[in-house]
Amino acid sequence: MFDCSKCPGYCCSYHIIPVTRRDLKRLAAHFAITVGRAKAKFTVKNDAEHKKDGEFKMRRKADEYFGRICRFFDTEKRCCTVYAARPAICRAYPTGRCGYYDFLANERSTQEDPELVALTWNK
Ligand code: SF4
Ligand code: SF4
Repeated sequence: MFDCSKCPGYCCSYHIIPVTRRDLKRLAAHFAITVGRAKAKFTVKNDAEHKKDGEFKMRRKADEYFGRICRFFDTEKRCCTVYAARPAICRAYPTGRCGYYDFLANERSTQEDPELVALTWNK
């Protein structure tokens, strides 16, 4: 249905990757630091209008394709660098099909370019 290893990581570029207290504990253990340090280093507070998504979200960094992407994303290899310690939302997504991968596969087929990743919105 989808193959994340052939995708430039669109879902990791979402504006809000919620980070729960449990996620912070997992990340803190992964890096052998305190939960407080993990919170300060890896997250920022959600805007008031997005508080329903949780109090904290992942910090982001610049990305060639999507403008901004999760701080833990390897922008050269196009994969997660904390896969074993990734937040619950990343473990749960996607359910069933991935709409982005459907779109990408269709574009690659239509343009006869199996490596196509030239998607440069959000800059
Ligand atoms: S879930 Fe979809 S968007 Fe995310 S990396 Fe996999 S194929 Fe890409
Ligand atoms: S933690 Fe990993 S899987 Fe989750 S958004 Fe960041 S790079 Fe993607």
